[in-house]
Amino acid sequence: MTRITVAKGDGIGPEIMDATLAILKAAGAALEIDEIEVGEKVYLSGNTSGIAEDSWEIIRRNKVFLKAPITTPQGGGYKSLNVTTRKFLGLYANVRPCTALSPFVQTKHPEMDIVIIRENEEDLYAGIEHQQTDEVVQCLKLISRPGCEKIIRYAFEYAKTYGRKKVTCFTKDNIMKQSDGLFHQVFDEIAKEYPEIENEHWIIDIGAAKMADTPEAFDVIVTLNLYGDVLSDVAAQIAGSVGLAGSANIGEECAMFEAIHGSAPRRAGQNMANPSGLLHGAIMMLNHLGQNEIAEKVHNAWLKTIEDGVHTYDIYKEGSSKTKVGTKEFAEAVINNLGETPMRLKKASYPKNAALNLPKYSRKPAKNKELVGVDLFVHWSGSDPKQLAEMLKPLNNGSAQLTMITNRGIKVWPDGFSETFCTDHWRCRFKPESGKLFFKNKIIGLLSTAIDEKIDVVKTENLYEFDGKAGYSLGQGQ
Ligand code: NAD
Repeated sequence: MTRITVAKGDGIGPEIMDATLAILKAAGAALEIDEIEVGEKVYLSGNTSGIAEDSWEIIRRNKVFLKAPITTPQGGGYKSLNVTTRKFLGLYANVRPCTALSPFVQTKHPEMDIVIIRENEEDLYAGIEHQQTDEVVQCLKLISRPGCEKIIRYAFEYAKTYGRKKVTCFTKDNIMKQSDGLFHQVFDEIAKEYPEIENEHWIIDIGAAKMADTPEAFDVIVTLNLYGDVLSDVAAQIAGSVGLAGSANIGEECAMFEAIHGSAPRRAGQNMANPSGLLHGAIMMLNHLGQNEIAEKVHNAWLKTIEDGVHTYDIYKEGSSKTKVGTKEFAEAVINNLGETPMRLKKASYPKNAALNLPKYSRKPAKNKELVGVDLFVHWSGSDPKQLAEMLKPLNNGSAQLTMITNRGIKVWPDGFSETFCTDHWRCRFKPESGKLFFKNKIIGLLSTAIDEKIDVVKTENLYEFDGKAGYSLGQGQ
């Protein structure tokens, strides 16, 4: 028996959770359940995180959490429970299988069978944002080597364990050479450790277009947080229905399983909702717990039910469906099919040891890190970069000179184009003469002179080389 934590959530949550748990029980899943309350009621009781302290303790003790969708109340101040749970528990991998069920559920892509593995903790989702000038706000995109290694290794181990043939990496490293570049570089490094699995890299824009058009060209896709967020909803939708997909959120210690859809409040309490998304989350949970035979049994009974044309309203189609059923009746049909396998759809089959055991990240030896200059970001509402360069002249000294000004990344001085549109946010790069060293205390000198000259520096970024390789971007057009 494994103790798990269950939250029935809001809206259609309780109905689809009851249906899912009834199927798991009938299939013989070895589970003991601790139920906790999360979501709307908790939010409205004045707890802005949507979950009580003692519920966290239960989740952390049991380590495995099956969660129905919740309603985040309208209005500001409520924190997303999903984002908090992922981050607090270090659930770095979001896994979403998207498989067509043609001809029983309509799709333009009958051969589609992909798994999207999305990095779940980093990227623009760190939520570190600042307004720096009247016109410009920034959001920090943080990508770490441990973050990249963990998710990419997870993708290859997943492919190996589940008998998948290829892992495709999606990034935009032609533009974001440092951040997406690191993800791509780590992908190439780790791919070498799995010679039996094919690997490839696509630029995200054309890759996403290809996936929407020809999803059968892909198998496992691994990508960064934001791209994965968008891509996985597209994939679920084109496979047939967002209402059918489940998702696993996996960490080194804990894991959370759920449907990808929301709480559909308009359908609540009417015995209408399709429990399939949450059931798929539960199937992934059984595999994670090593109960692969039960996972197979539930999945095949579910496939048989879909094949029998027993459908809830959201996938019911006159002609191809046979019986329109409610949530409870759908669950009963799946229970009646336990032990059966589908005739036309591909039978589900899961490996014995599907729980992936990944090594913990081990920190690499530190590189030789050398400070080679500094970018001062300046709030200035003028328009001619030459004038700004003139204003910055007093900052030039024996230790560092102004070498470049960019506006939104584009080089505007020296030799800019008069056509380039400029905002009030300027990156001014100071470097020592070539061959000379630059020291951190010189930055204080630059800032101090800037204050004297009434130049509004809104932030600085140090420019480093790591083992002689530039760890910063050049100006566009430089
Ligand atoms: P939703 O996914 O709840 O609903 C979108 C549409 O799909 C609706 O027409 C709904 O009726 C239908 N639908 C969804 N799930 C269904 C199911 N199982 N069976 C049949 N039909 C289904 O998205 P929404 O309306 O944008 O959001 C409603 C609430 O859910 C919001 O409060 C939102 O914050 C929350 N939400 C929660 C989660 C989560 O807890 N993981 C995820 C997304 C949205």
